[in-house]
Amino acid sequence: MLIDVHSHIDSEEFNSDRDSILKKCNIIVVDAGINYENNLKVLEIVAKYSNVIPAIGLHPENINYDDPEGEIDRVTSLASKAEIISEIGLDYYWIKDEEKRKVQREILGILLSIAEKENKPVVVHVRGGLKDFLEIIASFKVRFDIHAYEGSVKNAMKIVEMGGYISFPPVIVRDKQRQNVALNVPKERVLTETDSPFLGPTRDRNEPCNVKVTLEALSTLWRVDTKEIEEIIFQNFRRFLNKSY
Ligand SMILES: [Zn+2]
Repeated sequence: MLIDVHSHIDSEEFNSDRDSILKKCNIIVVDAGINYENNLKVLEIVAKYSNVIPAIGLHPENINYDDPEGEIDRVTSLASKAEIISEIGLDYYWIKDEEKRKVQREILGILLSIAEKENKPVVVHVRGGLKDFLEIIASFKVRFDIHAYEGSVKNAMKIVEMGGYISFPPVIVRDKQRQNVALNVPKERVLTETDSPFLGPTRDRNEPCNVKVTLEALSTLWRVDTKEIEEIIFQNFRRFLNKSY
């Protein structure tokens, strides 16, 4: 069973062929919501497809900075319907304003406390704010995965030491730094993802079954058979979710 721990399969890019895309391979796909309206869309999608898992979240780039309190209330009202809290995190790459970054940290704290209370893992977007993220996550007992991690090996090892997972999108095939991280982190802390429709092996629309491309890249790097890695990732995902599939 293949695992896509982070996708946006609800995106309109898939409106014409979502059915066939989700049936192309034997896969469990996590669909991550980025704001309130999008979370509703995620819930619609999971009602239709038994292999899609709902993740409810508020992406740092999609916070309504004019009304963060209203936005977070609406999002958290849906959290009980999620199996994973995502997409959440810190984005200091696009958001440079210090006030807005502070709002991001507050919202992240609120969502992490819900994840902790409801014993749900989180899949996190961190661009440029890793130091702050690690400080914040340290005060919560939450299983976490850094999606599309793009940092150094040294910081990857810090994430692992703190109990975190790292997921690799198919873009790993053209990204030496991610390959280097994959070579260094323990296999039992690795997950596969696509961030569909983004981060594909080429610049075309990415899709969940492309996690096979990540598996092949890991197979070359680790010198382990693809089937064996598929099983390792599946077991990692079960542990991450604390569920039996
Ligand atoms: Zn995403």
